[in-house]
Amino acid sequence: RIAAVDGNADAGIHAFLHVDAEGALAQAKASDERRAAGTPASYLDGVPIAVKDVLATEGVPTTVASKILEGWIPPYDATVVKKLKEAGLPILGKTNMDEFAMGSSTEHSAYGPTRNPWDQTRIPGGSGGGSAAAVAAFEAPLALGTDTGGSIRQPAAVTGSVGVKPTYGGVSRYGLVAMANSLDQVGPVTRTVLDSALLHELIGGHDPLDSTSIDAPVPAFADAARQGAAGDLSGLKVGVIRELQGEGYQPGVQARFDESLDLLRAAGAEVVEVSCPNFVHALATYYLVMPCEASSNLAKFDAMRYGLRVTPDGDPSAEDVMRASRDAGFGDEVKRRIIIGTYALSSGYYDAYYGQAQKVRTLITQDFEAAFAQVDVLVSPTSPTTAFKLGEKLDDPIAMYLNDLATIPANLAGVPGISLPNGLADEDDLPSGFQILAPATEDVRLYRVGAALE
Ligand code: GLN
Repeated sequence: RIAAVDGNADAGIHAFLHVDAEGALAQAKASDERRAAGTPASYLDGVPIAVKDVLATEGVPTTVASKILEGWIPPYDATVVKKLKEAGLPILGKTNMDEFAMGSSTEHSAYGPTRNPWDQTRIPGGSGGGSAAAVAAFEAPLALGTDTGGSIRQPAAVTGSVGVKPTYGGVSRYGLVAMANSLDQVGPVTRTVLDSALLHELIGGHDPLDSTSIDAPVPAFADAARQGAAGDLSGLKVGVIRELQGEGYQPGVQARFDESLDLLRAAGAEVVEVSCPNFVHALATYYLVMPCEASSNLAKFDAMRYGLRVTPDGDPSAEDVMRASRDAGFGDEVKRRIIIGTYALSSGYYDAYYGQAQKVRTLITQDFEAAFAQVDVLVSPTSPTTAFKLGEKLDDPIAMYLNDLATIPANLAGVPGISLPNGLADEDDLPSGFQILAPATEDVRLYRVGAALE
């Protein structure tokens, strides 16, 4: 299927940056033997998976879709990749993304964009457009993504897939090339809610190699999905977030969303409106916190340790080499965020920007706490629009950032979220997404409610 539809940077879906056919076939063969012997390593033994190119894979290139890591072959596996291997899932390859996971369209990849399988003139969302497109185009039944501001949920929404951002700390970040440590989470991209639950159970859990990982047993996500599939939500209280609908939301997206609220009512849930007044500041807060953390993280790409090294003519100093390498290795969006982050963290501006953003972040967390004191889950459209045209927002960073309006609050507060396929918008016959958010460590609610709506 990959050979038939994936193509390359110029044509086709281009979900993959690297296909590891040999490795995947060897893993599949070993899985066949375990299955034949009646000793599968897990429920998902033998089910192939695609992995976002932001996760380290031993012996397999990991570029973060950046020129600066071109040719880097990690000597180790990310914890989640190690878990996939132990559970017997053949790893098909590495999926395309916006460079360093910065973007909402996968157009910021240094290796060319991924195309939306529903309409190849449109974006597949971002930053994890490759993982979502691979699932939507039937190139992989399962994929891993990462979500710092929506990079699992928004691509899932615009490709008609299921995507889950787990509770912060629920899944190990060891071996994930960090964009913004306090926001990043690894999670599943799949076709069904139960598939996500099964995959989440497998990759979740405490990891001593990630100091922010939660030290508690992994909840029974799959059981929650099976329970929800019975379709009975009586006693459940659902809050519709007032600030995440209406103006700026495409009418067809809003209409499908309203229909799903009716489905929730029909399943016995009580649906009320809830206000989260500080959510209107979420985008501005995120686009300070995220670049600050990213500018600090990306300082390690200095051409000395790994990846690209450009040596200028003459007798260059170490600093000349670093400057030339970073200039050639980073794309425009990455440079933009390094500059914003460095500026906002600089002496004299720290309190005005980063310090202020952290305070607003606390207010947003408090909005969630107040809302979850009234309701069990919160809901909104995942993304304000369906997939836009390739190139449409490439020269307008603010328009690009606005895509993350509804997904960012969850990252700032560390709460879990799921995006469900929510039908096609009437205007353009393209997929829209339904987002469910739950309190931290209550990811089971996403699976119960998600499976009931499916
Ligand atoms: N689109 C958002 C950004 O550009 C989110 C990215 C992400 O979740 N990795 O920062």
